[in-house]
Amino acid sequence: MRFTFVTLFPSIIEGYFTDSIMCRAVEGGYLRFDYLNPRDYSVDKHRKVDDTAAGGGAGMVMTPQPLSDALAHLKDESPGVHIIFTTPVGKPFSQKDARRLARKEHVAFVSGRYEGIDERVVEVFADECFSIGDYILTGGELASMVMADAIGRLVPGVLGNAKSLEMESFETDLLEAPSFTKPKSFHNLSIPSELLKGNHSKINALKKTMALSKTKYFRPERYLKFTQRDSDEK
Ligand code: SAM
Repeated sequence: MRFTFVTLFPSIIEGYFTDSIMCRAVEGGYLRFDYLNPRDYSVDKHRKVDDTAAGGGAGMVMTPQPLSDALAHLKDESPGVHIIFTTPVGKPFSQKDARRLARKEHVAFVSGRYEGIDERVVEVFADECFSIGDYILTGGELASMVMADAIGRLVPGVLGNAKSLEMESFETDLLEAPSFTKPKSFHNLSIPSELLKGNHSKINALKKTMALSKTKYFRPERYLKFTQRDSDEK
């Protein structure tokens, strides 16, 4: 799968995808990451990419020309590319979106800066607009990286052990049960003894109980959904 980051600051993103799992995924040919800088498309003699907001107000806005020329170039080169704009007013990004987008061949993420992007560019080019949460970031780079990571790890072959995806939080309404490793005792806290006895049906039952309590405590709305579905199915 291919990702293109459309950003004025590619160096913010590059480091993350040249290390660890993502780096191995690139070397293995499962993922590819490209960068497109709208500034390289600016026809302004100073390579300007922003201007004052129409109607006044604080801050600058990304102008249509450099970004739309960059995106037009991208679409010419890769007609099937799925273009996602990062914006705090987009729909909330979820694991379901990550699963759906992991089946695409090429996804591009557009990072806004300053007070955002001229809305007309969004209207012309966006296939989807996503927010990663109800807070304001300085730019869309972190949001793009978050989404690319969540999508990329679901592409078959990227994670060595695909089984580790099965019980993960958000794959169902339940959060994953807590994890433990050696030593058996840490700060006077022990690993639940059932996990050490090798009886897999008891281990699975305990994990389910722990997953239920964790979900009930941290995400009561998901717990309610799970228990309602569970009782509907009975
Ligand atoms: N003035 C905008 C507003 O109030 O909605 C915020 C602009 S923000 C400072 C600049 C850029 O950061 C946005 O264009 C977007 O690309 C990105 N951004 C900020 N918060 C985000 C969020 N929660 N999710 C996704 N992208 C975000």
